[in-house]
Amino acid sequence: MSEQNHKKLIIVGSGPAGLTAAIYAARANLAPVIFEGDQPGGQLTTTNEVENYPGFEEGITGPELMDVMRKQAVRFGADSRFEYVTKVDFASTPHRIWVGDKEYTADTVIIATGASARYLGLASEQKLKGFGVSACATCDGFFYRDKEVFVVGGGDSALEEAGFLTKFASKVYLIHRRDEFRGSKIMRDRVLNNPKVEVLWNTVIEDILGEPDQGGVVGAILKDTLTGETREQTIDGIFMAIGHNPNTKLFKDFLEMDETGYLITKPDSTATDVPGVFAAGDVRDRVYRQAITAAGNGCMAALEVERYITELET
Ligand code: NAP
Repeated sequence: MSEQNHKKLIIVGSGPAGLTAAIYAARANLAPVIFEGDQPGGQLTTTNEVENYPGFEEGITGPELMDVMRKQAVRFGADSRFEYVTKVDFASTPHRIWVGDKEYTADTVIIATGASARYLGLASEQKLKGFGVSACATCDGFFYRDKEVFVVGGGDSALEEAGFLTKFASKVYLIHRRDEFRGSKIMRDRVLNNPKVEVLWNTVIEDILGEPDQGGVVGAILKDTLTGETREQTIDGIFMAIGHNPNTKLFKDFLEMDETGYLITKPDSTATDVPGVFAAGDVRDRVYRQAITAAGNGCMAALEVERYITELET
């Protein structure tokens, strides 16, 4: 292993957790390398207005927030790379990380790979992804000017996306499998008072209709969860907002995780069960999942790395 492929700290992932870890680690002279992954900036880059990140009285867009975080990290010497980690080996020390054929070693690793949007699991949904099926209203809402769309889910994401989509769509149907929203009161009230949103309670999508080469989504089969009755409704686009799965497949042979794949860290710590490997942000947090909690977590991870390296070197 050449000297330059060995790093004190490699950060995998570039959402608020990864980039905050990078800011702290860079300021501690650890010269961290960040492999940004396939969605640089993480999930916030698909969020329109971020109104609850402290310090931005008027709000800030997700991409802008992530861009300034990255610049802040780079200013202190973090090495941000738009590359994707393809393999790891945490069984040996130093830890090994591959980006394609290129191998790196690191004294410490911070995993901040976040979580990804969940889909319903229908074959028709898979076929029509990018052809009327989306999990990102901010990315794709623009295409639905004066059209009708479904948003699926009952949490804050679904409520937020439904409201956002009314800026473009003529009508938004919010499809929820129960008769009560999981999302917060303020978001619920906003949606329920929005005349362009109609909630279809106790409803699930059984199948999605349309062909990618014939204009994409044209409708869906809806099922009433109380009566079991099904019906067809025409629709132009469908936005999934039913939660997320942690991005941890890469680590399954090496790190302890819970039954749904969230990494397990020690109490009051970001340390995983492997010495020198830390986890921060949504990849280990199924409860709060906020940009600010992820950022706080990234800070914790960097401080713990600093301590770990100091002990290694003394
Ligand atoms: P979530 O809170 O887990 O909600 C997921 C929703 O999707 C639930 O209503 C769930 O129904 C439904 N669902 C899950 N699987 C389904 C399936 N297979 N078929 C149909 N419906 C399904 O996820 P989230 O809305 O993405 O929010 C995640 C976290 O981020 C939350 O803590 C939230 O507060 C936060 N968040 C905050 C903001 C904000 O403050 N601006 C915006 C977005 C998200 P059930 O309710 O029946 O389980």
